[in-house]
Amino acid sequence: MTLKLHNTLTRKKETFKPLRPGQVGLYTCGPTVYWFQHIGNLRAYIFADTLRRTLDYNGLKVNHIINVTDVGHLTSDADHGEDKVEAAAKKEGKTAAEITKFYYDQFIIDLKKLNILPPKKWTWATKYIKEQIELVKTLEKKGYTYQTSDGIYYDTDKKKDYGAIALLKKEGLQAGKRIDMGEKKNKTDFALWKFSNPDEQRQQEWPSPWGVGFPGWHIECSAMSMKELGETFDIHTGGEDHIHVHHPNEIAQAEAATGKKFVNYWLHNSFLTNQQGEKVSKSKGGLYTLSELEDQGYAPEDYRYFNLLTNYRKPLQFSLENLDAAQTALNKLKRKITNLRQEDFPGKAEAKSYETKFLKAVNDDLNTPLAIEVLNSLVEDQSLSSATRIKTAEQFDEALGLGIADWKPTKTEIPPEVQDLIDQRELARKSKDFAQADILRCLIKERGFVVEDSEQGPKVEKA
Ligand code: AMP
Ligand code: ZN
Repeated sequence: MTLKLHNTLTRKKETFKPLRPGQVGLYTCGPTVYWFQHIGNLRAYIFADTLRRTLDYNGLKVNHIINVTDVGHLTSDADHGEDKVEAAAKKEGKTAAEITKFYYDQFIIDLKKLNILPPKKWTWATKYIKEQIELVKTLEKKGYTYQTSDGIYYDTDKKKDYGAIALLKKEGLQAGKRIDMGEKKNKTDFALWKFSNPDEQRQQEWPSPWGVGFPGWHIECSAMSMKELGETFDIHTGGEDHIHVHHPNEIAQAEAATGKKFVNYWLHNSFLTNQQGEKVSKSKGGLYTLSELEDQGYAPEDYRYFNLLTNYRKPLQFSLENLDAAQTALNKLKRKITNLRQEDFPGKAEAKSYETKFLKAVNDDLNTPLAIEVLNSLVEDQSLSSATRIKTAEQFDEALGLGIADWKPTKTEIPPEVQDLIDQRELARKSKDFAQADILRCLIKERGFVVEDSEQGPKVEKA
């Protein structure tokens, strides 16, 4: 079945054709490790993971690379301001290496909790300094660079298609917005190599043909992705904020250096927003981390499920009420599946029509809301045996990553007062007093338990 993906380059859904049959080179712009990743950042990795899982589900062999930005990401996109990692090290009184290791480790803990599969390789920017210097040297040789007092810059005037992915028109670019040009020739020019400030002692700096300094943030991704995946590769992902600066810059550097197309498919996730529809960001503060959600009684898979209920290209409005709704729906699904594991319903042994519908949904540019609907109707379908429903749900989970295989029955500790209400409800049901049974069900729910009736008697679980 064909897999369609929305390509930002063309703004269209396209049939995915890998460069090498059966294989995919996939690069995801990774975290800048100077602080905890918030749940907005995590949306970007849940999306990349769902994409990677969908490629796997289609039988493709995925070489997934995610970078770790541990140097060069400045507080301003306009090539000035502080290096985020150096600033955090100063503030926390630690070394840059301690900072990046600590926040990387925290990030990995979150990814594991969210069932995000590890990439084949994490590429750390500081481990690819040689490749980045080589790339700048190539660009210099080909006449794409110029030097200012603070670094080596890429001249965006030299190649006419600069910014095509962002649909940028050079003349009108950021009209009305004041940009501090410094010594830049064009507003869109960007630093490839920055010189260390002589008045400041940096922890992370390297010698280069142009002077001691550190790489620009954009060159990191071009150098590392091409080193690991080749000069042209299949798919590159990132958050939608990268469409306007970071990704046009990555494309410009790579294509100017190699003369080849850099990436065939660019996929971008939309933002997690607050209730006012604004992007949630580290700088605005007031954001949750995954652990903070856990402290409030949410499981990591509640957040993953919440994400999957909306297509990755649509803005996702975050509120605890919205997360509650996802949690309730997921708990219901969990209960259904755990109950199925305890039953042995007879029925059809194959679920081909569901398999087809599911594959069609995920292959339609990751239509995860529809895929979840298919999963829910599969689990409800009484014409299928319980074993078939479980086996097929677990198969779907290879693409969804909800951890269904781990949803096993657990012994629920029921407090005596709740047990009392359950017993009263059974009596009411036996005497066909269904109104009273419903009232008792509500009282049980108020105490945090859900009761469901089965042939073997009432089943009780935590709500
Ligand atoms: P950073 O660590 O800031 O470099 O960001 C890591 C990833 O998170 C990037 O791909 C960003 O585009 C993405 N990102 C940042 N904020 C949000 C948000 N509110 N919603 C979705 N993705 C985001
Ligand atoms: Zn990047």
